[in-house]
Amino acid sequence: MLNIASIKKLQIILILILLINSCSRQPEQKIYKKFRILMDTIITITVVSPSEKEAETAINNAFSVIERLDKSLSSFSPDSDVSKINHSAGIDFVKVSTDTYQLINAAIKSAQISDGAFDPTIGPLVNLWDIADIIKPDAHISPKLPALNKIKEKLMFVNYKDIIVDDHDMSIKLRKKGMAIDLGGIAKGYAADKAVAALKASGIKSGIVSCAGDLKVFGNKPDNSNWLVGIRAPRGKLDDLIAVLSLKDLAVSTSGDYERFFIINGIRYHHILDPKTGYPANGFQSVTLVNEQGIITDGLDTAVFVLGPKKGLELVNKMGLMAYFVYSDGSIYITDNLKKLIVPNDKKN
Ligand code: ADP
Ligand code: MG
Repeated sequence: MLNIASIKKLQIILILILLINSCSRQPEQKIYKKFRILMDTIITITVVSPSEKEAETAINNAFSVIERLDKSLSSFSPDSDVSKINHSAGIDFVKVSTDTYQLINAAIKSAQISDGAFDPTIGPLVNLWDIADIIKPDAHISPKLPALNKIKEKLMFVNYKDIIVDDHDMSIKLRKKGMAIDLGGIAKGYAADKAVAALKASGIKSGIVSCAGDLKVFGNKPDNSNWLVGIRAPRGKLDDLIAVLSLKDLAVSTSGDYERFFIINGIRYHHILDPKTGYPANGFQSVTLVNEQGIITDGLDTAVFVLGPKKGLELVNKMGLMAYFVYSDGSIYITDNLKKLIVPNDKKN
């Protein structure tokens, strides 16, 4: 005979069976990954999703955001905001996209807080050194140092205080003819932020956007563990890592002297230039910063690299950033707040 108590028991068992059934019917979370060449580098987007279709739509949305950004910033295209601003230097204001406007404002902030070590008007010097072109495999140009008088000449056009921003109109003007902005030191971190926002808006809860040395992770892997991100050994092979970080909802950027460089008479000349001297900055092999925002880590990794070990660390501490430094002699410094995110050697696999 069924009494009230046994009916209740049966109901509970039934509910439990239903719950177990509905859990086991939940579609499996899988990792989907795609890459594209944009912003002059390989951009990889990884997402966790129960559906290949959802993953693909979200990834394509995020790539569209980066593509749009690339169109605004590319110095190769004459129609980009950056090209227009540079061509109108000393002449006129140029109305720009929201992306360009936000990025230039963030770049000016990075310049202010680093006392000009990061300077988005570094363009004339970047063009003079031409490191990106010299090191291209099909370049056929032998590396040559720019003449000192040329460097001095270009230095007169490098000063972020000569960027005039019209907030009303979202338009930008460079005060002097001959000035040129170059947002290469901050744009990829911003792109990572924007792409992650696009993935989230498409319903993705977890993933990674990687723009070469700048990446941003959010959520967890399907097994609920954190994403693992490696820091490259500056003098090692491509896949030699000096550390692995376990991350959730954080951005990581690295500025290094090993990506774009040439060597003359045993001296390494690389692509991170000191706006005070006009020459590549000394003191570090690489600077890796970790923070919630890619625009902060990317803008400031370049700044810290230029500031050098002492002033660089002061800026890191002032801004409460996590940092992993490899100094010029190969020795390492890790801030205390980053140590806890480093995966111990025996747990890396
Ligand atoms: P990467 O581009 O290799 O990730 P960075 O974030 O340090 O590394 O950016 C380097 C780029 O920043 C250079 O290629 C150049 O376009 C630009 N740049 C170089 N020196 C400076 C500087 N002092 N301030 C701002 N941008 C810089
Ligand atoms: Mg940077």
